[in-house]
Amino acid sequence: MSDYVIDPPPVASLPVAGSTARFPVRRIFCVGRNYADHAREMGHDPDREPPFFFDKPADALVVGDEDVPYPSATDQLEHEAELVAALGSGGRNIDAAGALDCVWGYAVGNDLTRRDIQAEAKKLGRPWTMAKGFDGSAVCGPVYPAARIGHPVSGHIRLLVNGTLRQSGDIAQMIWTLPEIIAALSRLVELKAGDLIYTGTPSGVGSLVPGDVVEIAIAGLGEVRSRITSRSC
Ligand code: MN
Repeated sequence: MSDYVIDPPPVASLPVAGSTARFPVRRIFCVGRNYADHAREMGHDPDREPPFFFDKPADALVVGDEDVPYPSATDQLEHEAELVAALGSGGRNIDAAGALDCVWGYAVGNDLTRRDIQAEAKKLGRPWTMAKGFDGSAVCGPVYPAARIGHPVSGHIRLLVNGTLRQSGDIAQMIWTLPEIIAALSRLVELKAGDLIYTGTPSGVGSLVPGDVVEIAIAGLGEVRSRITSRSC
């Protein structure tokens, strides 16, 4: 018998590619504006301003090829194809030089965004939480262990909607590299095993509607295919 007054929430997790094992997810951090061409398309100067972060709850995960319910309270759901790093260890004030030692593996992700709510939040100086951290906002594919595939620093990243190419870039185009991101984030919070980091999206973000099929692929990390279903409420 536990002392909890309600059932504790289940642990969110991701499949490990090529295995029946699961990667347990603790927190989901995301980097904003980490590709110059995407910063420009959003109306920002792509100068190397320090990286900034927002987050999503772990239970916002949509695992692999599961359907994505079109979220409530938006008429502008947008896709953002991203490389996701899954941490196997953490720490505070991590040096960039050793930061990749914390990374257990990598996955393909979609940082789904209520762009209309985000635009209003930016205008009014409000938090991005309801633009970025809604239910079903964090699509993520299976985790590929770094022990097997190494630490990718380049590779094609692309996103198609209904078979039409929308986003195409290379993870080598990131403004801040993953070691630099881990170093900066670990100065703001103590990183822990199980944390995911979404590393930003290349240009070409755009709207989704119910019925759309979104396919995202990163070289060496397979593909995630999501169908957008009708509004959840
Ligand atoms: Mn993003």
